[in-house]
Amino acid sequence: MISVGESIEILKSNIQTLGIEKRDLIDSIGCVLASDVLAKVNVPSFNNSAMDGYAICFESERTDYQVKYNIQAGDTHVYTLNENEAARIYTGAPVPKNTNAVIQQEIVSVNGSNISFDPEKVKLGMNIRTLGSQCFENQIIASQGVLVTPAILGLLASAGVFEVEVYKMPKVSVIITGNELQKPNHELEFGQIYNSNEFALVGLLKSLGIAQIKTYQVIDELTEVEKTIQTALAESDFLILTGGVSVGDYDFVKHALENNQVNTLLYKVKQKPGKPLFVGKKQDKWIFALPGNPAAVITCFNQYVKPCLLAIVGNENTFEPIAVLPLKNTFKKPTGLTFFVKGKYDYQGVEILQGQESFNLLSFNVANCIVKIEDNIESLEIGSLVEVYPLD
Ligand code: AMP
Ligand code: MG
Repeated sequence: MISVGESIEILKSNIQTLGIEKRDLIDSIGCVLASDVLAKVNVPSFNNSAMDGYAICFESERTDYQVKYNIQAGDTHVYTLNENEAARIYTGAPVPKNTNAVIQQEIVSVNGSNISFDPEKVKLGMNIRTLGSQCFENQIIASQGVLVTPAILGLLASAGVFEVEVYKMPKVSVIITGNELQKPNHELEFGQIYNSNEFALVGLLKSLGIAQIKTYQVIDELTEVEKTIQTALAESDFLILTGGVSVGDYDFVKHALENNQVNTLLYKVKQKPGKPLFVGKKQDKWIFALPGNPAAVITCFNQYVKPCLLAIVGNENTFEPIAVLPLKNTFKKPTGLTFFVKGKYDYQGVEILQGQESFNLLSFNVANCIVKIEDNIESLEIGSLVEVYPLD
């Protein structure tokens, strides 16, 4: 058996990205930028109004201006203001040449085609968004290593970027083992259970932005498991199995992986849940064999599979907790194993939930994190600091 800390170090030392690809901007959500992105244009590319109001060429003595133009957002004309002239203008519309202030309409009195206002309220440059005030053409606006979020999509689109270089996303296969499994839209026969791991795993992968996912289901039979592993490995960069990796007479996964020339990186971790966890590699392909117990599957995915997947697509610090928070309740456990327990955290602290058995999924109804409790700890008091790993 190997400790949690040693296991994580082994995984970290094996991380390699899968290379780089170009993607249309809209398809890059959830990917990590593989190169710096430069603005294609100045943003804004023309001086424009930040308000609905009046563009003026302000002279400190003057209180009255004549409204000569009406300029809407999208107007492509170039207008020029002369002395004592103003233009009715709207948010986002280009300001005329010689404009040195836009007066918001709320402080303007309109009298026919003339306007007046209190000159004390005018500051030169007010309510004008100047050319390049967000960024200039060829300026770096998003750096290599940045995760493409919806806000980054908006930023890049605002500067005319329509294609980006990102780290490749893996093709992932999931193999579900177990003779007892039934699909949720079928009636259960005595001795059967619903196949919940497939739903949990596919959902977890999709939530990481992985689009290419294949699932296989196989009975507990060595040659069948072996064949399915062979097929799945040929089609994917990353393979996840559930069930059949423990020490029972019908647990064939470890043996079937070895028969497929998968090299062991680690097997059997000093942890609860998820003791039988196996991680291996075949050339550059990753293989994670998770236990069958559904809560162990979600926990092992969160603590091992997710950080690995996020790291190979270019993210940094993926194995780190999101926070170290004070406990809201007490907790007792034997020493020797690291415990990963379902918890609910907020900005004040974290509560360890009831129902920690590895077959029991019900506490995920309220859980939003996994709390790590080190192997040497026997009991924790209220206020003890613990590492918190989010479940989303
Ligand atoms: P195993 O690791 O194959 O011995 O399975 C451990 C426990 O997890 C058993 O109670 C299995 O019935 C259960 N289990 C295995 N696979 C699944 C699955 N896909 N969905 C739900 N429970 C499962
Ligand atoms: Mg099984």
